[in-house]
Amino acid sequence: MRQSQTLIPTLKETPADAEIKSHQLLVRAGYIRQTASGVYSFLPMGNKVLNNVKKIVSEEMEKAGAVEMLMPALQLSELWKETGRWYSMGPELMRLHDRHEREFALGATHEEVVTSLIRDEIKSYKKLPLSVYQIQTKFRDEKRPRFGLLRGREFIMKDAYTFHTDQDSLDEAYQKMYQAYQNIFTRCGLNFRAVIADSGAMGGKDTHEFMVLSEIGEDTIAYSDTSDFAANIEMAEVNVTYEQSDEAAKGLETVETPGYKTMNEVSQFLGLPLEKGIKSLLFKVDERYVLVLSRGDHEINDIKLKNALGAINVELASEKETKQLLNTEVGSIGPVRVPEDIEIVADHAIAAIRNGYCGATENDKHYQNVNPDRDFKVSSYQDLRFIQEGDPSPDGQGKIKFAKGIEVGHIFKLGQFYAEKLGAQYLNEQGKQETMTMGCYGIGVSRTLAAIVEQYHDENGIKWPKEITPYHVHVIAVNPKNQEQLDLAEDIYEQLQQNNISVLFDDRKERPGVKFADSDLIGLPVRITVGKKAADGYVECKLRENGEQEDLHISELIDKIN
Ligand code: ATP
Ligand code: MG
Ligand code: MG
Ligand code: MG
Repeated sequence: MRQSQTLIPTLKETPADAEIKSHQLLVRAGYIRQTASGVYSFLPMGNKVLNNVKKIVSEEMEKAGAVEMLMPALQLSELWKETGRWYSMGPELMRLHDRHEREFALGATHEEVVTSLIRDEIKSYKKLPLSVYQIQTKFRDEKRPRFGLLRGREFIMKDAYTFHTDQDSLDEAYQKMYQAYQNIFTRCGLNFRAVIADSGAMGGKDTHEFMVLSEIGEDTIAYSDTSDFAANIEMAEVNVTYEQSDEAAKGLETVETPGYKTMNEVSQFLGLPLEKGIKSLLFKVDERYVLVLSRGDHEINDIKLKNALGAINVELASEKETKQLLNTEVGSIGPVRVPEDIEIVADHAIAAIRNGYCGATENDKHYQNVNPDRDFKVSSYQDLRFIQEGDPSPDGQGKIKFAKGIEVGHIFKLGQFYAEKLGAQYLNEQGKQETMTMGCYGIGVSRTLAAIVEQYHDENGIKWPKEITPYHVHVIAVNPKNQEQLDLAEDIYEQLQQNNISVLFDDRKERPGVKFADSDLIGLPVRITVGKKAADGYVECKLRENGEQEDLHISELIDKIN
């Protein structure tokens, strides 16, 4: 590519709003431009590097047995209502109306769409397992879009989904995906680590995040200094062993809480951070159970909860239903009004909810029925959000250290959450209807690109790793007005292309200083400078990686670069 014919608008000055290196450099080197907060155009060079990341991702997905497809960004609200995420995703989900006032979401992720699609297309166990993926634009109205491509409101994601008849088949696919992710981030040249993660509002358990280690990472990883234990400290719980004696069931109001079993999931649903000292109250209203979280003391007498943080209908876990039951604003900070005929089932129900049951534990009116030690025993509970550096590692080996990470990938065993909600069933070998088991696997493709720049740059610009670089060689004609130099540079440009070496040719009529500065900024691995020694057939070859340079005769050039 001739530089005079492409669009690489480099900037001398650092854009005022760009706080981190990848954002500064991708803008300054002419790879991307912002069009709105968290929304970017990929210019020709940016598009090339993005395609290179996509190519690696695609190749490894195909190797792992996934087939590529493409689903729409525009998604009917009905699907999102069926899973409850229309309510639980809150303002992050971009919503719009069509001319007939039908509600839509712009896809933040595609579990709803893909599950309903597979539900309609696959009816028999013979067609399972199935693994599909897409590389597609996602929309999330992030509270704080920032750091350029790292946290956009419109961004590129690879999302894969697998469908199975049973857990073993899912486990196998998960392992394959885990390996594919290792391959992808290794090929991207990244220093990364897989960590155990929190399943959040996605439902299901068993999940890993792939973290690029970086000071500017927004996630904190707690890892052991001697074993391979590593986890996102967002994790509320690791290593929980819960024992419920047979006695516990007796005299206890217990109710299963499908979908939102852990306290962390409850807090995710409500969009509330869990803190030490949060209290909870469990009500029974119309045969439904509602959990209210509050920071202060409950004021039960006038049936008003001051300082309530939010509430969840633990059976249905839908914001709308909870609102109806409580006749109040839910999920927001403020007083919560509860109906007058409520029955208070349990105060301080946290430990119980955490383990998948709502039940009386302490301070509640059924307390004399109940013995917390006997009935609810959490033998090793670890809340990582309160863990400190130097604490013993939850796996019992070594001490905890902290590192910052950028989440570039996330894999989940979803189980049957979406398949159940959306009725994705198949006929098994005996001709019986069964619910599918699912996994989902995301990679922030545009975020990965930015993470690469975070790890590959110096004070002068980007230093692309070889699988990502937009072109391998940068040929610079120092003085294109000198015919000898121009001819030689043209000749080298031709030869490299004939040898399938990708090349950017700086044929612009700019001062040498400008060309060299741009070249460092743009960051191609090899620079060939055609200058004064051109008359003798010599050029200068310089590696961006380490600055090593040598004079080479054109006859040895191709061999050297290959
Ligand atoms: P984060 O914790 O950073 O908000 P997430 O956990 O919400 O990310 P997932 O739902 O797991 O994201 O989506 C899969 C992948 O998509 C993430 O691992 C990340 O690499 C990428 N991603 C998520 N949000 C953004 C965003 N706003 N901009 C760019 N990439 C994103
Ligand atoms: Mg997010
Ligand atoms: Mg996350
Ligand atoms: Mg995630």
